[in-house]
Amino acid sequence: MARKKINESSEETRVPERVTAEVIEEIKVALVQKKAALSRNINSELDEMRTAAEGHHLADMDDLGGDANDEETNYKILEIESAELDQIDYALERIDNGSYGVCEECEKPINPERLRALPFASLCITCKRSQEAAEG
Ligand SMILES: [Zn+2]
Repeated sequence: MARKKINESSEETRVPERVTAEVIEEIKVALVQKKAALSRNINSELDEMRTAAEGHHLADMDDLGGDANDEETNYKILEIESAELDQIDYALERIDNGSYGVCEECEKPINPERLRALPFASLCITCKRSQEAAEG
């Protein structure tokens, strides 16, 4: 049996290595693709909502309740998607100006593992946790 305890105690204090240019390039490609897919989604949802809104003029009053719910759900999805789009834009901006992969709060490098899992993370896990704790 191999022992895998060597790094365990130093894990917490170890300064994460800064994300490499290769990984950033990889993340950038993924972000650009995600952005294109999201933009397409948002556009088709907007189209659908426009069509649905036009349909309202012809709909019976009885149906409006259900439609309003649908609309609310659509708005929520759109809201989430456009927030995500903003985050992608922001991440791409940071990649372009060279500040990507550095925590906005403490200016330490963000763990590359974290960036791979969460490409638009702009805070390191420590700052993110204390921010979440502050927000409750
Ligand atoms: Zn930080």
